[in-house]
Amino acid sequence: MESDVRMEILPARFGVALRLAAGQSVDIVNIHGTQAVDTWAFNDADMNEFLSLEHTRSRLSRVIPQVGDGLYTTRRRVILSMTADTSPGIHDTLLCACSPELYRELGCDPTHRSCEGNLHEALGKIGLTAFCTPAPLNLFMNVSVGANSEVIRDVPKAKPGDLVTLRAEIDAIVVLSACPQDVTPINGADCTPRDIGYLIV
Ligand SMILES: [Zn+2]
Repeated sequence: MESDVRMEILPARFGVALRLAAGQSVDIVNIHGTQAVDTWAFNDADMNEFLSLEHTRSRLSRVIPQVGDGLYTTRRRVILSMTADTSPGIHDTLLCACSPELYRELGCDPTHRSCEGNLHEALGKIGLTAFCTPAPLNLFMNVSVGANSEVIRDVPKAKPGDLVTLRAEIDAIVVLSACPQDVTPINGADCTPRDIGYLIV
């Protein structure tokens, strides 16, 4: 298939920053079905405006965005729209990105890669900086809230090849991180981060 030929691979544990013009979309493909993808978006004209999950949850009155929903910035503007989702629609907007501090807590080597590190590394490769690490939209990450308000983490329910399409509504920088978490089973029961695919259309 032509789309497969053009699909780029983001290696497990790494991130990439993509520049999308308004109207362009990115397909994010869960090749193996088990991989969570931390996702950020920044206004290309002003890195101080970025995708804000607290604004998005508030504006949508929903914890998980669905197809047809806009994703809102810190200035309450739509930066991305979710235009397709072939997965069961389970994504996380509650948890922060994994970080060097988290891996230190888990007893890992200080060089363990993290989604937070991937965000800043990927932005740096295209000459940009973010002054903070915004909360990511954790695509395919299976997090729910229990009856006693406890946060429940489970393995992703996506199928191999499931994809989410996000359309830029303004010129945007979208950063994807194939989450390097290999201590807990957030990236599948075998705790093995895997490659994801992406395609700008
Ligand atoms: Zn992560």
